[in-house]
Amino acid sequence: MPFLNTILNIIFPVNCLSCGKAGEDLCIVCLSETPSAERETAKWIFPIYDYRHPPIKKALWLLKYNGKKRLAKIFAEIIYYKILEELSELSIMENFNDAILIPIPLSAKRYRERGYNQAELICKELIHLSKTNHLSPPSGEIFTLRNDILIKPKETEHQARIHNRAERLKNIIGSFAVKNPELLQRKNIILIDDITTTGATLSEAKKILKQYGARKIIAFTVAH
Ligand SMILES: [Zn+2]
Repeated sequence: MPFLNTILNIIFPVNCLSCGKAGEDLCIVCLSETPSAERETAKWIFPIYDYRHPPIKKALWLLKYNGKKRLAKIFAEIIYYKILEELSELSIMENFNDAILIPIPLSAKRYRERGYNQAELICKELIHLSKTNHLSPPSGEIFTLRNDILIKPKETEHQARIHNRAERLKNIIGSFAVKNPELLQRKNIILIDDITTTGATLSEAKKILKQYGARKIIAFTVAH
């Protein structure tokens, strides 16, 4: 509803958090000037932006801790094109089709505190895009979203507060569990998270999903 958006913009103006221009929380110019992430050593992880770039750091903080949910939509769009790009190759080379989209979960306690899971918000926007974007395949079904497979029964220390790679791994090991494993059998999985640093969280999620029968797993994050 462009008209409603115009009115809302007058009442509650939205400005780019980087350059201040009116219109979007992060404008297209600032996004295009954001440096790309250096690739993780793990070939199956695809981060988009360099986390050290201050506007990205700020945007991710606002999305995660300050309820700026609109940013999920902006990031989902970027991730969506990246997924399409990677899938065009993977679907031919590795038969990577009918993937399940899985957000890295929060524990129930943290979910209650925060009120939402930022990775899940990005996934929901990705589903919306897959149904509406003009670049989507005609069937419209590149992936389905499941947030009832990978769960986090155990609360862990924030990974961001731990600076040592080995300690991060130790912190996250055993913290995930799988529900409804029958849904996973021989399925291709796309994991989504906001940030990856050492890849410990994504690796742990991959490990347990594989144990329960998933086929191929790739991951996309906003930043590294
Ligand atoms: Zn801007």
